[in-house]
Amino acid sequence: MTEANSGSDVLRPITIAGALDALGGGRQIMAGATWLMRAPVRGEAPPKAAVLIGSIPELQQISIGQDQVTLGAGVTHTKLAEALAGVPALKGLVTAASRAANPPIRAVATLGGNLCTAAFAAGDLSPQLLALDARVTYATKDGTQDMDMSQFLAARGNLSGGLLTRVRIPLGNFRSAHARLPLRKAGDYPVAIVSARMDQNESLMRRVRIAVGSVEATPRRWSGLEAALEGQPYDLKAIADSAGSLTNEFTGRDGVEADGWYRTKVLPALVRQVFEDLSMQFAERP
Ligand SMILES: Cc1cc2nc3c(=O)[nH]c(=O)nc-3n(C[C@H](O)[C@H](O)[C@H](O)COP(=O)(O)OP(=O)(O)OC[C@H]3O[C@@H](n4cnc5c(N)ncnc54)[C@H](O)[C@@H]3O)c2cc1C
Repeated sequence: MTEANSGSDVLRPITIAGALDALGGGRQIMAGATWLMRAPVRGEAPPKAAVLIGSIPELQQISIGQDQVTLGAGVTHTKLAEALAGVPALKGLVTAASRAANPPIRAVATLGGNLCTAAFAAGDLSPQLLALDARVTYATKDGTQDMDMSQFLAARGNLSGGLLTRVRIPLGNFRSAHARLPLRKAGDYPVAIVSARMDQNESLMRRVRIAVGSVEATPRRWSGLEAALEGQPYDLKAIADSAGSLTNEFTGRDGVEADGWYRTKVLPALVRQVFEDLSMQFAERP
């Protein structure tokens, strides 16, 4: 027996295979439930039948190796931030996980729930994982699919009947940073996010990755700015100027918490913030 049935419309599997078997019949995966239980606030019906995935040990695993970090999809924001606090390359991810939302939400909201909520544009973890070249594993009854973050974000609205099981992040000598702009009228949600990762070699910026979240409906890489900075010497003013001249790569979404034009307008300041942070991290690098 691999499953404990905790009610006619709620199943609590203890294996990934059990969870995949339990999906169907209109049941929805429920992790921390911080998004699902606010369905009425969004004018949506709450789920009538659920598959609770919090008792699957594999989804709670965190493995920190020489070359790669692997995170189970059920890891909460709080646990993620605690576990990775000693990994210098992933400071940006630790910042994202420890600044998102508020402490009670972070204690239960999971990595998988944050990445799988296609309707939520303001997620902190997706842009950071884009910048870190992370890959995700999505399991269905037909097998598992390995996707990079861009592929996953493009596909996630159409994925069903499966389970995000883990996220893998390659490690290296790079550094990462995360900047977000919350406004009081936006509650805990950031109106714009910039995540970045880079290496520094002979004072030149290398392997630059920059991703933007909350500005458009889906986070994505800022490819024009990455290309403009790659191989250039670190110069904070030049970096911010380049960002200022390339914000037209984005079309900000209008929302109750901020107009679209405002979301793009603040991007150069957020870029400046992440590159200042990166510079300080390189100054401290042994
Ligand atoms: C007040 C408040 C403030 C917030 N502020 C922020 C913020 O600043 N930054 C930020 O990033 N987020 C923020 N959030 C969003 C929060 O982080 C998400 O609600 C949370 O990450 C969702 O995780 P969960 O485990 O609760 O997911 P759930 O609510 O359980 O599920 C969310 C969705 O993901 C699906 N799902 C969950 N896990 C999986 C899986 N492993 N595989 C496939 N599908 C899955 C569910 O079926 C559901 O559709 C905020 C939320 C609240 C309530």
